[in-house]
Amino acid sequence: MTETIAILGAGLAGLSAARHLAARGIAVRLFDKGRAPGGRLATRRAEHAGRRLQFDHGAQYLRAAGPGFAAALEAAGAAPWPDPARRVGIPGMSALPRALAEGLAITASRHAGRILGEAGAWRIQHWDAKEAKPGTPLPATPPIEDGPFSAVLVTIPAPQAIDLLPGMADALRPVRYAPCWTVMAHFDAKLPLPDTLRPEGHAIGWAARDSSKPGRDGAAECWVVQAAPAWTRAHLEAHAEDIVAPLLAELATLAGAPLPAPAWAAAHRWRYSLLEAPLGQPFLWDATRRIGLAGDWCLAGRAEAAWDSGAALAAALAP
Ligand SMILES: Cc1cc2nc3c(=O)[nH]c(=O)nc-3n(C[C@H](O)[C@H](O)[C@H](O)COP(=O)(O)OP(=O)(O)OC[C@H]3O[C@@H](n4cnc5c(N)ncnc54)[C@H](O)[C@@H]3O)c2cc1C
Repeated sequence: MTETIAILGAGLAGLSAARHLAARGIAVRLFDKGRAPGGRLATRRAEHAGRRLQFDHGAQYLRAAGPGFAAALEAAGAAPWPDPARRVGIPGMSALPRALAEGLAITASRHAGRILGEAGAWRIQHWDAKEAKPGTPLPATPPIEDGPFSAVLVTIPAPQAIDLLPGMADALRPVRYAPCWTVMAHFDAKLPLPDTLRPEGHAIGWAARDSSKPGRDGAAECWVVQAAPAWTRAHLEAHAEDIVAPLLAELATLAGAPLPAPAWAAAHRWRYSLLEAPLGQPFLWDATRRIGLAGDWCLAGRAEAAWDSGAALAAALAP
């Protein structure tokens, strides 16, 4: 029987690890609770009055300092925005992980809830992602069990990895993410604002005319507005529908004028957004148990850190 490695999480870290291993002839199988790979590289789609809308509501743009990530972005068709040093997916950010996932075996919409077995013969129990919620007890419904896997690579945010690997809690607990409330809003008229804003000491950390990115409907006037960590924490448990108006009111303070009501709007809460306290090493690998961990949280809150972490973990298994 050929050996297969299970990778839990198909964000950039999981995809990077998977591609590294697959390129060396090692069989991999990814599990992700999302409907598609990509994790925080995500694009929300909606329709309003017959018009298709889209918003990159997670990572806004990607920078590649090293050749590995630069080559991956190139292969996935990324384009510069808003300057030559920053890149975005075409027609949306989610196109990048989709391209990077090509040819990989991914079991989507499944929440990996338990790792059972022993080194060399791990089994993964997973549930319908609609039933299982992170941080709550696993559903009473019977899971699907897959395996055996020769190794397991866990590439989900550290606070969620504690649920899967409670024995690693001491190493994972110091990792801290900032949360981020994000509002997506479509307007009928152009707002009197530049394409990108990064105000200092403001309730808003970043705002951008998402429709100004290449390959989008440039006339759609779609905005992504990210609250700064302090504002997000002050509103963390609010309902999404109660976030849109106050955050757009904050956007109006940047415009210096009242803004029109949005024609369509929604809010998304990222509990794990950018890193405030990373692990400080590229990955964790227990060679005896053959269990490893990777993710942006190992290094820094950037997409490239996730990519590098996944690749470094995979290289520890198969140089
Ligand atoms: C609002 C926001 C803005 C950002 N802006 C930028 C930016 O401009 N530039 C930049 O470089 N970076 C940015 N980032 C950070 C960047 O998105 C991340 O660093 C990177 O995408 C992390 O990749 P990852 O693979 O480590 O984790 P993730 O992308 O979080 O992937 C983890 C995956 O694991 C899955 N998962 C979790 N738990 C389970 C489970 N139990 N079972 C199965 N699957 C599970 C998730 O569905 C997810 O797909 C931003 C992030 C956010 C949220």
